[in-house]
Amino acid sequence: MKDVLLSSLEYISPRQAQLFKRHEILTVEDLLLNFPTKFDDYTIISIKDAEPEVPLTIAGVVQSKATVTTIKNKLTLMTFYVDVEGRRIRVSIFNRHFLKNRIFYGVYVRLTGKFNANMKAFTASEISFEELSNNITPVFNIKGINNNKVLEIKERVFEDFGEKIIDILPEDLRTRYNLISRFHALKFINIPEDQKEIKLAIKRIKFEELLLYQLKIKYLLYMRKNFPQGVAIKYDQSKVEEFIKKLPFVLTRDQKQAVSEILNDIGSHFKMNRLLQGEVGSGKTVVAAISLYAVTTAGYQGAIMVPTEVLAQQHYKTFKKLFENVNLKIEMLSASITAKERKEILDGLLTQEIDIVIGTHSLFGKEVAFSKLGLVITDEEHRFGVKQRVSIVGKGHLIDHLKMSATPIPRTLAISLLGDSDISVIRTLPGNRKEPITKYLHYQDMTLVHEHILNEIERGRQVYIITPMIEESVVMELENATDIYEKYKSRYQGICEVGLIHSRLKNQEKEEVMQLFQENKIQILVSTSVIEVGVNVINATTCVILDADRFGIAQLHQMRGRVRRSDEQAYCFLVSDSTAETAIARLKLVEENNDGFVLAEEDLIMRGPGDLFGEKQTGNIAFKMADIVLDRDLLEVANTEAEAIINEERIFSEEYQEIHEMVHQNYLEKKEMLD
Ligand code: ADP
Ligand code: MG
Repeated sequence: MKDVLLSSLEYISPRQAQLFKRHEILTVEDLLLNFPTKFDDYTIISIKDAEPEVPLTIAGVVQSKATVTTIKNKLTLMTFYVDVEGRRIRVSIFNRHFLKNRIFYGVYVRLTGKFNANMKAFTASEISFEELSNNITPVFNIKGINNNKVLEIKERVFEDFGEKIIDILPEDLRTRYNLISRFHALKFINIPEDQKEIKLAIKRIKFEELLLYQLKIKYLLYMRKNFPQGVAIKYDQSKVEEFIKKLPFVLTRDQKQAVSEILNDIGSHFKMNRLLQGEVGSGKTVVAAISLYAVTTAGYQGAIMVPTEVLAQQHYKTFKKLFENVNLKIEMLSASITAKERKEILDGLLTQEIDIVIGTHSLFGKEVAFSKLGLVITDEEHRFGVKQRVSIVGKGHLIDHLKMSATPIPRTLAISLLGDSDISVIRTLPGNRKEPITKYLHYQDMTLVHEHILNEIERGRQVYIITPMIEESVVMELENATDIYEKYKSRYQGICEVGLIHSRLKNQEKEEVMQLFQENKIQILVSTSVIEVGVNVINATTCVILDADRFGIAQLHQMRGRVRRSDEQAYCFLVSDSTAETAIARLKLVEENNDGFVLAEEDLIMRGPGDLFGEKQTGNIAFKMADIVLDRDLLEVANTEAEAIINEERIFSEEYQEIHEMVHQNYLEKKEMLD
């Protein structure tokens, strides 16, 4: 079927073959795997079951002649009466005046359209005089070929080649999940008799897609671990323990667990591909520091990449402090250093004078080369572009890679998009952190917020006021933020200092404002959502989010995380006057819930995966039928099954031979891409 070209079949004309080719349909297999874009259902509904204003099909016998009126130049309206199960219905249909002569007493008609509210009149969009045996028509949208012709060709092809369809799913799997055979699935999806067949076909096709996808991912993981090519870094266990002991705090249980998982990967022969998940303030940075330190004890270098300049600066300072007691050279490579400094750092990386380097995307540059790189850490990796991500890997695909993310990644995405990563999770926050108190309110209740701010300021605390980015216009955004800034400045004049940070400021200016806030020289910081991730000002305990409805659930939670940084009680105000039901539901959910994973899953369901991972990356999973969010239950099943097939090494058995070939091919392609 793969090698039978449509152009070689006598019932397909060269022109038709050409038209199919434009849809990338070249072979018999392509044709059978070209699924309908929709199904038109002309199943006749009994008038007892019909509802007003819902599209449906009815059938009856004409009771009158048709009258045609011309409404406008080209618009005509034809009306006539039909008896449907003993009820007299007035039918109107636009622009079918040419059918006038076919409408007379006693003629059978099938009408697709909608009843009006009182069920006495019917507005039809389609009319047919044939009593069809098949009420469902798949619609294929092959430009230039009539849909009936496509159907006819499909039927012929099925007759000739149907028998050759091999089922790639083993029998036991099909029985277990009540899946029809591949032959039936392809037949039912292309030439269905009724809705039930379509349903069965869709289930089978989706399962196959999801299972294959999960198998490909799990196979990558399997091959990475079982055919290791990386280097085992013999880090100095006692030095690492010493380092941990000298930290200013004791690691939480989750942090310890994460450290041990990471060190285990570092010390093993396979390449680490691990995601460290933990919300803002959960203490990922110190875990990163320990990991970097570990590789240096074995004579390797480490690199950590962050998405913004502000974060790079912050990490640099934190690391300098954390590594105070050990003799390591740490440098920062960013856009804000001079060419001379840059040259020195690049030399230092080559001569291995520098042990650890922190940087923004400037670390990705081709000219950045290491003497002995052992570990790459990326913070908030999903915020980097796809190209940049590839070039991290380009620094050596065998080098251990730790990805950190403060965005709780819902399980649905974790098992699909990130299925070839191992995952460590920091769930509990360090210290005696209390859950923040969140309140959703309207602008008319702002006095409450202002009183609260005053109280907190008097207690020596600091406050964030966040305004949404205005995507359509940077100027509007700036005016909005500036406006708010001016208002707060005059409101709290003589009481405290107010600062402003927005996306139009230069990096250095942002840095200066952040510095002032960090040093508590500014008490209220008005900001657009530019400082979304990672910023660490422990003394800030209140976060006021204006027009909160303009943010997504995950984003709100992320911003709330900024004030969860000390043992002080934190507060978050979600201010919004939106009357949109979904917006209100979202804000209430965030008000009532502090669990990032729950919120992330909700966010995913409401907004789709694009927002979290960027269209490009989610676009990588282009299924014909399945949808990782809508079909998450089936995905879960496919994942469990795939895991078992790989872990029990059934993938290598005869019954999985076809699947194994596909999966292995994918592995070879991926590998080549990385080499
Ligand atoms: P993240 O990078 O996950 O957002 P950080 O690493 O910045 O979080 O940690 C937040 C704060 O918590 C930092 O001030 C850090 O020093 C502190 N911290 C980290 N781990 C612990 C711990 N085990 N006990 C007490 N404080 C900790
Ligand atoms: Mg961090």
